[in-house]
Amino acid sequence: MMARWRRLAQSLAALLVLALAGCSDRGPAADPLPVPVPSFTGGGSIGDASPAPAQPVADDGFSNARKEMVEQHIQRAGVKDERVLQAMREVPRHRFVPEEQVGRAYDNRPLPIGFGQTISQPYVVGLMSELLDVQDGDKVLEIGTGSGYQGAVLAKLTDRVWSIEIIPELARRASSTLDNLGYRVEVKQADGYFGWPEQGPFDGIIVTAAPDHMPQPLIQQLAEGGKLVVPVGPTGTYQTLWRVTKRDGQIVSENITDVIFVPLVRDRD
Ligand code: SAH
Repeated sequence: MMARWRRLAQSLAALLVLALAGCSDRGPAADPLPVPVPSFTGGGSIGDASPAPAQPVADDGFSNARKEMVEQHIQRAGVKDERVLQAMREVPRHRFVPEEQVGRAYDNRPLPIGFGQTISQPYVVGLMSELLDVQDGDKVLEIGTGSGYQGAVLAKLTDRVWSIEIIPELARRASSTLDNLGYRVEVKQADGYFGWPEQGPFDGIIVTAAPDHMPQPLIQQLAEGGKLVVPVGPTGTYQTLWRVTKRDGQIVSENITDVIFVPLVRDRD
């Protein structure tokens, strides 16, 4: 009897997690599907729990909303790296979403940014940034610039960030948003599957669209000790978020959790 109740309680808890998460390529209206579905496997010792000195945050009318977002949806979900948390308290997510989405900019959900694409869920941005473990001065490459928001969070952690977006209009728009806000991110329009060999090797590579297999060119562009954080799997269902680390020339892969991302599309030629 007890066991049955426990199973029922576990199923309800799982449903709640599904309802609370949320990110997919379908856009929010038709989008009850969650991302990520935390499995809490792997990645146990990431991050740095020691508090960093508080920095002044310019009050743009949203700083409380950001603080709340970080406390309720990012810290509470297990992200501990204080540099990442502080970056997310400061980067104005509302400046990266279309005007009609500004009121929802600090909800823990992906939002449409046009061209069938979404700005990622804040928790996913926090988790992936923590997994990347960016140190000041590190060279970081992002594949899938989208709105530019993830790039801005990375630019708070190091001043050497490159980002590749395949949709020309998004690449242009993100680049000008980042410039206007003073974030140093070099954006180019290309198929990010091939990385940016002229700028590599990188200490961190983050992929914010899902390829259906591990992209070898990106692994090749990792520096010694470098980390690749990438969701890999089929379109339209869960993918696996992996962290791949190059150590002594060898590849160490950690399966982090299940997620749903838009697909990494390939240039047709
Ligand atoms: N990181 C973004 C959200 C990413 S949405 C943000 O913070 O807003 C995924 C993005 O990946 C989309 O903009 C999509 O156009 C882009 N993308 C898909 N396939 C790509 C590829 N092969 N190379 C580069 N970008 C790609």
